[in-house]
Amino acid sequence: MSDSKKDLSFTTRAIHLGNETDPATGAVEPAIYMANSFALPYDPSQMNWSASDAPIYTRNGGVNQGRLERKLANLEGGEDCVVLASGVAALSGLFFANLKQGDHVIFSTVTYVATYRIFNELWTEKMGIETSIVDCTDLEKVKAAIRPNTKLIHFETPGNPTLCICDIEAIVKIAHEHNIKVSVDNTFSSPYNTRPIEYGVDFVVESLTKYINGHGDSMGGAIIGKHEEMEKIRYQSQVNIGGCISPFGAWLINRGASTFPLRMQVHNDNAQYIAEWLDKQPCVSFVAYPGLKNFPGHELAAKQMEHGFGGVLSFGLKGDHDLYNRVVSHLEIFTSAVSLGNTESLIVFLGEDDERMYLYPEEFHNGFYRVAIGIEDKDDLVADLRQAFQAEGLETID
Ligand SMILES: *Cc1c(COP(=O)(O)O)cnc(C)c1O
Repeated sequence: MSDSKKDLSFTTRAIHLGNETDPATGAVEPAIYMANSFALPYDPSQMNWSASDAPIYTRNGGVNQGRLERKLANLEGGEDCVVLASGVAALSGLFFANLKQGDHVIFSTVTYVATYRIFNELWTEKMGIETSIVDCTDLEKVKAAIRPNTKLIHFETPGNPTLCICDIEAIVKIAHEHNIKVSVDNTFSSPYNTRPIEYGVDFVVESLTKYINGHGDSMGGAIIGKHEEMEKIRYQSQVNIGGCISPFGAWLINRGASTFPLRMQVHNDNAQYIAEWLDKQPCVSFVAYPGLKNFPGHELAAKQMEHGFGGVLSFGLKGDHDLYNRVVSHLEIFTSAVSLGNTESLIVFLGEDDERMYLYPEEFHNGFYRVAIGIEDKDDLVADLRQAFQAEGLETID
């Protein structure tokens, strides 16, 4: 299938792109090319050994990686894509290629923990990057944080783990007026719900470990943007830093991506249903989910998120630290584990001592659950939560 078939629906493209029948064998599904090296041309001395366009060595670009990159560039509506070994490899690969000593970065108060540590601790100390942690839901604060040396604004929407919503279009406008690039970590929304490139962002990052692979059995990360920018990331961060994905990992993610739109719709629907149920429970102190009408970013989320509000929600209990752990111990379908985007539902208790708690809204400060709603039957999930609440004597309402 040609990449130009943009008129086909998202679901059809997710299935067919990068999955073409193998012309050599007629196999309907792609092979896994585990080779780490490729036959060179007649006169190899003419080659650019650091290039990623001709097959040389799998750290410069693998066959399965390339198939996945084509699919993801198309689904995000971007020119090109680089797939690396994990979401964090994609984030650091993007930052490495775009920032140098003395540059300033604005990043959101609510980001993935590795982003926080890169910008709050590691790169400030080791690389001389200046950073400001800014509540990017507040455009005035974003504007006020801009300095002459600001090079990048980075945020997530919805943010992990408070689900806060940032206005992509408005931040892009502010940034581009000042010649600043914008990167959005789109892992929580996924390209099924939001394609930040349509709002003008320069870079999109996805942890493929989550919804796009979807089966909890592989890790990967992607950066999507302009071809020229992706070539720079390939050269600097992939070929010469080396966080390349394994062919098997790329193959698994490409396979998972075929059912990603269907799974994502169920994640959206289930999370909405469970958020509404939790919101009615007397023992629940708050529910953070962009699909709830009372959630602060709801209207903006409804504008930016096409088919639903994603599969992650957070909520608090009226109770102490140990109540959180006891309730989790009664759950039979939910597993207590980090990550999200798997077929199965996962729950993690983030206690009051979490290193980033000071950055979150007040209601989170006594600890809360982050819940990654899976694609099980939604009534089974509610029943599991209900019995766990009841086992602790907590009142529930149907
Ligand atoms: C999980 C996650 C990452 C990191 O991805 P890995 O594949 O675990 O390295 C980055 N951003 C967000 C929003 C995530 O949820």
